[in-house]
Amino acid sequence: MRSLRSKLVLIMVLLIIAIVLVVGAFLINGVSSFYMNQFYSQMSGVFTQDYIRELDQLAPEGPERLKETLMSSSGLNIDINTRNVYILDENGRLLAGSDEAESITATENVLTAVSGQVGQKKSIVSEYMDVAVPVSGDESSYIVYIVDNRATADELSAEILTIILPALGVGLLFSILLSLILANIVIRPISDLTDGAQRVASGDFTQHIEVHSGDEIGVLTENFNHMAGVLQRTLDEIENEKNKLSTLFLHMTDGVIAFSRDGHLIHSNPAAASMLSAELAEGTPYGGIFGTIAPLDLVLDLPSAEFFTEDITAGERSLEVCIAPFSREGEQGGVLAVIHDVTEQVRTEEVRREFVSNVSHELRTPLTNIKSYTETLIDSGDSLDPETRNRFLSVILNETDRTTRIVKDLLTLSRFDYGRMEMSRSEFSLDKCLRGLYEAVLLDARSHRHDLVLDLPEGLPVITGDKMRIEQVVLNILSNSIKYTPDGGRIVLGARHLYDMVSISVEDNGIGIPTEDLPRIFERFYRVDKARSRQSGGTGLGLSIAREIVNLHGGDIRVESTYGSGTKITVTLPVEGLRDE
Ligand code: ADP
Repeated sequence: MRSLRSKLVLIMVLLIIAIVLVVGAFLINGVSSFYMNQFYSQMSGVFTQDYIRELDQLAPEGPERLKETLMSSSGLNIDINTRNVYILDENGRLLAGSDEAESITATENVLTAVSGQVGQKKSIVSEYMDVAVPVSGDESSYIVYIVDNRATADELSAEILTIILPALGVGLLFSILLSLILANIVIRPISDLTDGAQRVASGDFTQHIEVHSGDEIGVLTENFNHMAGVLQRTLDEIENEKNKLSTLFLHMTDGVIAFSRDGHLIHSNPAAASMLSAELAEGTPYGGIFGTIAPLDLVLDLPSAEFFTEDITAGERSLEVCIAPFSREGEQGGVLAVIHDVTEQVRTEEVRREFVSNVSHELRTPLTNIKSYTETLIDSGDSLDPETRNRFLSVILNETDRTTRIVKDLLTLSRFDYGRMEMSRSEFSLDKCLRGLYEAVLLDARSHRHDLVLDLPEGLPVITGDKMRIEQVVLNILSNSIKYTPDGGRIVLGARHLYDMVSISVEDNGIGIPTEDLPRIFERFYRVDKARSRQSGGTGLGLSIAREIVNLHGGDIRVESTYGSGTKITVTLPVEGLRDE
């Protein structure tokens, strides 16, 4: 590519050559025309009617006499080097001449004179200028023929050329210099702009190109700077958006994986990898991850706004996967998979179903018993002996009590669930409270020959909370220990105070809880040994309610147990329990 600088120099050189050539041509042409016009006006000045008549009278004296007369005419300026006079006969043959010429060419003007007219036609292109004037005496007729070989004009033209050529050289030199200066003036800002454009193209928007002038290039530079600024701002905004999206993508809890049209992983977020418990490297094939849910071709052919969805399990997790095509610039660019962890929902749903079935079961058993005993009582009329009747009636009473307990506990739990459980906050002595509870269960414990021990340190604090509810929790734990410890066991009710927390523990040497059941004993209706629990009047809801109460106080309930050798349940509560509403 030729540089702008050399183009500019070339244009200037051509311009100068063209100007010089045109001026030269005009000058040379002007000189020729001037010389020719001068010749013909000279001729017409000389060859007046009077002069021709004079020549007519001279004609009888012969051609030589005519020639001499004409040569001596000052108006004709005869010079054998440039301008000659010839005397021709009436047919144009040469009779006498001012030079040694032996014949002359029959030019158009000579032919005109032969026909009796004055021949003085000008021709700029011919190499000569001529005038032929017929002269007639009484007997003889001649043609006076003046020819100028234009040597003077040619000399002048040559002179002009010798002036023009050096002028052309100087002009060229000037034009080259001038065009180089011009190139610097014009090209410097352009090359600055080019550098700037290259920097912008390589992503550097910081540099500001200096504006040197207010001309078109100056305006262009200003516009360029403005454009670079706008571009920088737009790119910043895009970068910002991109960062926002990638942060969102990185931290969102749903997993997102994007695949290209040919089924290779382009992008994935950490959530996706952790949900699928898989390494999701770039390029991982689609088929290996979601091939079983929907083949790539089918997903790509889906109309927009439609998607495939399926629930899958990955290890312990339940996942809901949605797969949809996404388009890039109007055409489908690939496939996007969004993975939603529904483990918790699935578990909640399971718990709910289990709960409903448990409630139905728990209520059906006592109700069936009540119904059958009542039917038997009605059917047998007076035939039953009073002892059996009383036994039947007490069974009915027991089952009714159990149903009532279950319904009461369920109501309590539902109040907790809906946040409608009202707590009455008060300050009370933990020491006194626990001693009261000890007294309350002492008889029951003794009836099972349990050794009930109270292990309270000195100086237990006054705590804040719902006294009745806390008593309900401890009582439930104590009665569980009494229930699930074979007669003659040992149960220790203890308490500790550590900083701003107190812990209450009930430890027994009873039947214990199998390790696999430990995490579930706080679930609703969960019982290790259903028959035993039911027999002893348990609903399987006691520990669930206890946990809700402890949680509401900002505390914690823990169980430690060894199957077959005993259980320890510890409740930790803040000294300043319930907060004022
Ligand atoms: P329940 O009304 O059946 O006692 P809870 O919610 O109070 O219901 O207890 C849940 C289950 O935890 C009980 O059914 C029992 O199997 C087990 N459990 C609770 N406390 C003890 C304990 N001290 N020793 C052994 N098992 C216990």
